[in-house]
Amino acid sequence: MVTVNENYLLLKSSYIFSEINRRVEEFQTRNPDADIIRMGIGDVTRPLPGAVVEAFHRAVDEMAGEETFRGYGPEQGYPFLREAIAENDYASRGVDVTPDEIFISDGAKCDTGNIQEIFGLDNVVAVTDPVYPVYVESNVMAGRTGPMDESGRYEGLVYLPCTEENDFIPPLPEEKVDLIYLCYPNNPTGTALTHKQLAEWVDYARDAGSIILFDAAYEAYIQEDNIPHSIYEIEGAREVAVEFRSFSKNAGFTGTRCAFTVVPEELEVPDSEGKMHALKDLWNRRQTTKFNGVSYPVQRAAEAVYTPEGQREIRESIDYYMENAKIIRESLEKAGLRYYGGVNAPYIWIRTPEGMDSWQFFDRLLNDAEVVGTPGVGFGPSGEGYFRLTAFNSLKNTVRAMERLSELSF
Ligand SMILES: *Cc1c(COP(=O)(O)O)cnc(C)c1O
Repeated sequence: MVTVNENYLLLKSSYIFSEINRRVEEFQTRNPDADIIRMGIGDVTRPLPGAVVEAFHRAVDEMAGEETFRGYGPEQGYPFLREAIAENDYASRGVDVTPDEIFISDGAKCDTGNIQEIFGLDNVVAVTDPVYPVYVESNVMAGRTGPMDESGRYEGLVYLPCTEENDFIPPLPEEKVDLIYLCYPNNPTGTALTHKQLAEWVDYARDAGSIILFDAAYEAYIQEDNIPHSIYEIEGAREVAVEFRSFSKNAGFTGTRCAFTVVPEELEVPDSEGKMHALKDLWNRRQTTKFNGVSYPVQRAAEAVYTPEGQREIRESIDYYMENAKIIRESLEKAGLRYYGGVNAPYIWIRTPEGMDSWQFFDRLLNDAEVVGTPGVGFGPSGEGYFRLTAFNSLKNTVRAMERLSELSF
């Protein structure tokens, strides 16, 4: 008899975005003239840079010529892109990552979701709370957890609460953990870790024999000097960390799809008999079996991100979003709200006022300012009492939304 993977039945459907839509639609029905501004979107809004579009077009034309047509490419990605990444994202910062340690993919979501399958099922997994749900749910599907309890935590996972009380710096676990997902700059809190704070985690992983799965999707938003752009800026990280990057948030590739994962040569993990295995070989094996590479035009488009023109254009878009973030921060100040983030990330994490939970704050903003954001509790139990606004909107809408918000008093 055929049966389903029952691990999937443990998943609690994330009702957050459907509940947001339900409340917004209901409000719009009651107030047909309401001019609702959505500040909850976790997607970029600016178009692809011109240099990227040009390279993309040229590569499509190559696919149309008998001489220049390309079929299957290398599963790991074309050397031209892997070399451009090694040079521009790493060597230029004095970080040693070689092209063959870089694996091109169609998204950091897939890679952060897939990476767990090269690790044993009995590994103990730690995640920050609040968290990007992919890390949690991919491990639930694989069978590394029990069911979710009333508090919203899956049995068997280690949650590292990141709140105002600890300045959103994930506390080192009290129990031994094997796999640690860290995302910095962070979605949803918008906070970042300094060199020193990240170094504590690298030291922990080295002592405990754990692996850090470091999601740096928002690296391009870093403005401050003491924030590492790559975990490999930390000494010793090559032996304990995998890094995930994406062209989604820096170059607007959310609908184009291109990302990469770095698995350093030195990264080795033992089997049950203590024999060491290179993770890079296992990841390569996984990718060559289950993945057939990113399309040639998309990889050419991604390569163009590193041209001087491409760099200038992506900088312009990031500055645009970060100007929105600044406007949001200033307006929250005026409204008397406490907030975090928005300095090295496009997310602003608001502390809801005394006596108001995430959903009550959502309703207040919707009703009194016609502004929609995301209740923090949707990202994990420690997100209760917080609320996320994003800078991914037009300047005009951001200004209008914040004018309304700064008139409210809390
Ligand atoms: C947006 C985002 C990504 C990027 O995902 P892609 O699949 O590359 O679009 C990765 N991690 C986090 C935390 C994100 O918010």
